[in-house]
Amino acid sequence: MAGYLSESDFVMVEEGFSTRDLLEELTLGASQATTDKVAAFFVADLGAVVRKHFCFLKCLPRVRPFYAVKCNSSLGVLKVLAELGLGFSCANKAEMELVQRIGVPASKIIYTSPCKQIAQIRYAAEHGVQLLSFDNEMELAKVVRSHPSAKMVLCIATDDSRSLSCLSLKFGAPLKSCRHLLENAKKSHMEVVGVSFHVGSGCPDPQAYAQSIADARLVFQMGAELGHTMHILDLGGGFPGIEGAKVRLEEIGSVINSALDLYFPEGCGVDILAELGRYYVTSAFTVAVSIIAKKEILLDQPGREEENGSTPKTVVYHLDEGVYGIFNSVLFDNICPTPILQKKPAAEQPLYSSSLWGPAADSHDCVAEGLWLPQLHVGDWLVFDNMGAYTVGTGSLLRGTQACRITYAMSRVAWEALRGQLLPTEEDQDAEGVCKPLSCGWEITDTLCVGPAFTPASIM
Ligand code: PLP
Repeated sequence: MAGYLSESDFVMVEEGFSTRDLLEELTLGASQATTDKVAAFFVADLGAVVRKHFCFLKCLPRVRPFYAVKCNSSLGVLKVLAELGLGFSCANKAEMELVQRIGVPASKIIYTSPCKQIAQIRYAAEHGVQLLSFDNEMELAKVVRSHPSAKMVLCIATDDSRSLSCLSLKFGAPLKSCRHLLENAKKSHMEVVGVSFHVGSGCPDPQAYAQSIADARLVFQMGAELGHTMHILDLGGGFPGIEGAKVRLEEIGSVINSALDLYFPEGCGVDILAELGRYYVTSAFTVAVSIIAKKEILLDQPGREEENGSTPKTVVYHLDEGVYGIFNSVLFDNICPTPILQKKPAAEQPLYSSSLWGPAADSHDCVAEGLWLPQLHVGDWLVFDNMGAYTVGTGSLLRGTQACRITYAMSRVAWEALRGQLLPTEEDQDAEGVCKPLSCGWEITDTLCVGPAFTPASIM
């Protein structure tokens, strides 16, 4: 163990328990608290992060994963990933500072924002961060002046038109300008050591990686002709975060592996990296959000009645978190969060058309509409899973506050696997060839378990 993460950083979840049990304990504790203040909180299963890592190594054995800090910079996540030996892709000074504060050496950091503030380029120079991305002449000139010993990675544009979040308009050099940029770098005595791309967050098309790998090969050839010694290929992010995503990691992995074999065969001397964000954290985080207010609106439509003769109604629930906070995926990724109810409604319980709203005083702060829910009450908790990506961390770094408490958990089996850095064996796979959960996830929630009391550990 490198010592980034210790047992005091998380709740050890013993066999027979799940994250949901922990979450239920915490919501019960919060409901019984004497204070009127309720705040949404996360439970993060670090074992799920460990499992994702092993699955990634298995699917893409030639790729060295880095973690895109912007996706979720909570300390538990950074520590477990540092413990697993990952490098870190940082978009700004705050992220570099954060990972260096937990002890990550500068040699494991890439400053990947292609457009940077001069003061932050200087910060990288002063703190030993050597690998920096660029995608235009102006940026190159800034780095020449402020960090002349930097090693540059040329970020190329991709076709990200099908991804959840497209960035190629903002970042990435078109192929036709790469030769010019490489020539410029040579003239300025800047070493260009590699090529990076990002197919866009939530990429549903594995061929986007294959095309970009082929493009990167062309740029490597241009670089070699101009005297650059290029040895890094960075595949960026875009890998799926949720279990059961439309395109599975295995499928993406097989397309990437074939493209790598074709364009960057084993033994070619190129170090293949990826900068994964949502892949590692999405499914590891579950959030509990409390209902703070409720309003019933009668739908007075002539001729429309409920079965029991009453006037139909819709129920509006107000939550203490909304689309400008942890539910920003509603705005940016077009996702409709569906709550998991803590108590399963009885079959005879009526369901009502319902909507969930955040605390902002505007009509855009709608978390979900068109839900059919049983009658809920102020103070009830709604649980949402797959909440780890772009929900916590970077936002709080900018604001200087951590909005939601995070309780980290890990199963003993995941902790042992992490300590031994054990790759799952063949027997650890289920019939579909998927790695067996090391996580203390939701899979055993129907069993009533009895065990030791939890002592929540929050390290953020
Ligand atoms: N790399 C770069 C350059 C990014 O901009 C991002 C996210 O926007 C990522 C990696 C991480 O992407 P994802 O969360 O899809 O893995």
